[in-house]
Amino acid sequence: MNTLSNRLNSLSPSATLAMSQKSAELKAQGVDVINLSVGEPDFNTPEHIKEAAKKAIDENWSRYSPVAGYPSLRNAIVAKLKQENGLDYTAAQISCANGAKQSVCNTILTLVNPGDEVIVPAPFWVSYPEMVKLAEGTPVIVAAGIEQDFKITPEQLEAAITPKTKALILCSPSNPTGSVYSKEELAALAAVLVRHEQVYVIADEIYEHINYIGRHESIAQFPELKERVVIVNGVSKAYAMTGWRIGFIAGPEWIVKGVNKLQGQYTSGPCSVSQKAAEAAYIGTQEPVEEMRKAFERRRDLIVRLAKEVPGFEVNVPQGAFYLFPKCSSFYGKSAHGRTVNNSDELAMYLLEVGHVACVGGTSFGAPECIRMSYATSDENIVEAIRRIKEALAELK
Ligand code: PMP
Ligand code: GLU
Repeated sequence: MNTLSNRLNSLSPSATLAMSQKSAELKAQGVDVINLSVGEPDFNTPEHIKEAAKKAIDENWSRYSPVAGYPSLRNAIVAKLKQENGLDYTAAQISCANGAKQSVCNTILTLVNPGDEVIVPAPFWVSYPEMVKLAEGTPVIVAAGIEQDFKITPEQLEAAITPKTKALILCSPSNPTGSVYSKEELAALAAVLVRHEQVYVIADEIYEHINYIGRHESIAQFPELKERVVIVNGVSKAYAMTGWRIGFIAGPEWIVKGVNKLQGQYTSGPCSVSQKAAEAAYIGTQEPVEEMRKAFERRRDLIVRLAKEVPGFEVNVPQGAFYLFPKCSSFYGKSAHGRTVNNSDELAMYLLEVGHVACVGGTSFGAPECIRMSYATSDENIVEAIRRIKEALAELK
């Protein structure tokens, strides 16, 4: 008998993690799978960061930290926000968590009451609507297709806001599309939000440093809105530290205090050693970040060029992050190998089982017409993966 809570029963499992696990299982069975499913840098954590962690262990940074994180880490984040983003925060306005994922969820649970609406532009990162549901809020999906570069317009935002709207979740650079909102586009969205005092912005900037068009722009830069913006960021993507699990929020002190209260009852401060490593990441040389960014840009150029040669794909050029999100609905309804591909999840399964390439179907990103490929992998893997995909798709009639 299933006696799980209703909360759990209504939660969808993470499609990105599920696909990555499926690909690992096939690999364990000896199948030569190329994994373009999970979004994580394929680089190792830079040496000076690892050294800081080793030192932290030797120096016995082994006890509970303050719930919000060590003051030294929060001060390093304050300095980062000032230097890189031109934004003023105090250490009391920072709260660290076990990854940006927990930071997003903490913020949602802290702000959202049952029945509150949270605007989630689609395509969205798979976890946002599920986190809103956990808080018993209602995700309000605003669709932005490939023809509008997967970005919502101020008019769409205005139309989606109701008296029940509590928050907007904005992800730029975006997972899964790689789209980046320009300063002008953010200003136009901010102008709408300024008119609706009850709406907060959760600005997920985890891909800040993986940006191919120049300086990162934050929606927190507009003074008239800053008091209603919670920035989410962390070390996972920029410093190749996904497994270390350090993310943070920067926002109004009353929200940060709320998050600290929640976290104090729920998980406590994040891993002490990882915090010391994250501090080294923010304080130390930023050269590895730029080296990795350049590598991602080269791979972006490669995968875009190759994917444009795949008949039936419609390809948008991503400006950040490390995902390609081609439109692939032209294949729906077609068959090969005794099976019919009816939607993006079935196409992802077909590509995994026939082409041995793991991608994630667009349905769980709110874009059933697309498929997501992470190009955070070697050039050789990208070339071979697209070759296999092209071959497998050509068989669909
Ligand atoms: N936000 C987005 C948009 C992401 O893609 C990810 C990656 N999983 C996260 C947040 C979570 O990052 P972290 O690994 O730091 O929890
Ligand atoms: N953000 C990554 C992705 O979308 C990691 C997996 C996850 O946390 O969902 O693939």
